[in-house]
Amino acid sequence: MIDVIKLLPDSVANQIAAGEVIQRPASAVKELMENALDAGATQIDLVVKDAGKTMIMVVDNGCGMSETDARLCFERHATSKISKAEDLFNIRTMGFRGEALASIAAIAQVELKTRRKEDEVGVKIVNEGSVVKEQTLVPMQPGTTFTVKNLFFNVPARRNFLKSPQAEMRHIVEEFTRVTLMNPEIGFTLTSDGKEMYHLYPGNLKQRIMGLFGSNYEEKLLPVHQESERVCIDGFIVKAEYAKKTRGEQYFFVNKRFIKHAYLHHAIENAFLEMIPKDSFPGYFLNIEVDPADIDINIHPTKTEVNFLDVKLVYAILHAAVRKAIGQHNLSPMIDFDESADLNNDFSAAMRLSNPLTMPNVPLDPNFNPFRQESSPREPQWERPKENYHTPGDWRILYGDRTDIPEEPLEPKEDIKPTVHYLQVNQSYIVTTVKSGLLVVDQHLAHARVLFEKFLKELENSNGVSQQELFPQALTLNMNDASLLKEMLPELENLGFVLEQANPTTFMINGTPTDAAGCDAVALLEQILDNYKINRTDLQLDRKLNLAKTMSAQLSIKAQTRLSEMEMQNLVDQLFACNVAEVAPDGKKIYVILNMEDCFK
Ligand code: ADP
Ligand code: MG
Repeated sequence: MIDVIKLLPDSVANQIAAGEVIQRPASAVKELMENALDAGATQIDLVVKDAGKTMIMVVDNGCGMSETDARLCFERHATSKISKAEDLFNIRTMGFRGEALASIAAIAQVELKTRRKEDEVGVKIVNEGSVVKEQTLVPMQPGTTFTVKNLFFNVPARRNFLKSPQAEMRHIVEEFTRVTLMNPEIGFTLTSDGKEMYHLYPGNLKQRIMGLFGSNYEEKLLPVHQESERVCIDGFIVKAEYAKKTRGEQYFFVNKRFIKHAYLHHAIENAFLEMIPKDSFPGYFLNIEVDPADIDINIHPTKTEVNFLDVKLVYAILHAAVRKAIGQHNLSPMIDFDESADLNNDFSAAMRLSNPLTMPNVPLDPNFNPFRQESSPREPQWERPKENYHTPGDWRILYGDRTDIPEEPLEPKEDIKPTVHYLQVNQSYIVTTVKSGLLVVDQHLAHARVLFEKFLKELENSNGVSQQELFPQALTLNMNDASLLKEMLPELENLGFVLEQANPTTFMINGTPTDAAGCDAVALLEQILDNYKINRTDLQLDRKLNLAKTMSAQLSIKAQTRLSEMEMQNLVDQLFACNVAEVAPDGKKIYVILNMEDCFK
């Protein structure tokens, strides 16, 4: 019998390996950028043509290669990053398999130019389908430039399977995003078909997120930081109210390596549970730093999966870290006693004692769903002030014997009667007592929350009550806005607007929601359109959420508005009947509770 087993030539072996490592232009982008990072570059420029099909070029100012290394780097399993088996358990570099360049060269025409600082000139090597075609010396700056042309030129099946240029470009941008996010101290650019798409300056993670996703992310992010012995978590989560309908901004990294991890993703989703509508997704940009010995990244060639030695521990720490970030944001008092001049008197000083105030234990409803149909509000979760709980005597304990202090908060005369339950401070904050202490409510934010939930319900049930306008106003728009408004008509009608299109660009406002009584309906609708336009392209917030948010922000009572005691009581009652009483639709904390014992001290 004759022997039949043959060793495959390298070029064939490389092509087979390439099938795994390089699936599309974006995979080559990832490998080349990671090599540049591993080379210690501080500036990395990516240039692509035809979504990478015609050309991918990565220019770095890293350590460069010697002539021998430049030749060797195209060999399979040629790597400078590990040399023995134990190294596999201490990987700090992005690459380590020594497969990428061999794979790319097997299926493309690659030109490498590289120079080390200590060398006078660089070397240029052209490698096509694993065959070195050219090797010359070239003058160049220190660093490395890889140019990959005609990817899959010798694998037509692969080439034909590539998706549309737009789809392939999306993949490239996604890889670019993953690499650049975790390396904010490095400058990056991405140029596509001659147009610069990204120019990212060195900075911190927050600046990098803003550079990638837009400067409006400044206000959307909450910092996360959690250190423990074996695990350290750092990064940002996107505030609950900016959660998106698409699984867009979910970025997990382990030791700066992008990973997908359903179980850990669940830890975050769970931490956000009652804050985000069921069909929205939390956004996050988090890096989990662990001892490389505690993970196994050697399980998949494209390396987006990672095995943790103790994944339960990581889950618990991650969950706690995100909870803490959300909690700190929601509970940080928006009423800043140090900054509000009017509050900065002995009255607030009496409350601002040397002891740290204990944060209220905020009851959260795990079943919260703003789209829930049934309109039965939950039982208020706070302690109603008991009739006999406080008398003017109680207040005197607070103020000592000084009767001159609370002049601003008190309505004249009748509010000093024993029936006083609610005080207005600075015409902006409602102060009342609850079992555990003093409740201080921001009236504007409280009303915004109440209206927000009301509008959401109306939008769901189309039962907004409208008020007939005696003199219908005309709202004239440009063609674009007019067609947008038309898109929104069903929702607006649900809220109580009665609009009639008089001509292609003019609408008559025949009725407005009762909550908008006395408000400039034209301005309100223009504001709604504006926000709709911004959010449609940017937040992709649900249209209803968006509408309810705009309406509630516009129509809620403002700070510096005097309220009667009855109005204050109603507002506080309505607030605590809300599904989420603690934060306003824009994420700001609505109230604080100042511990009574501390006040007495
Ligand atoms: P790996 O990154 O897994 O080591 P690659 O095939 O991606 O394997 O690269 C092979 C080797 O080529 C690397 O180990 C490194 O020594 C060298 N190399 C690749 N790209 C660069 C670069 N941009 N700058 C300097 N050296 C590089
Ligand atoms: Mg590599």
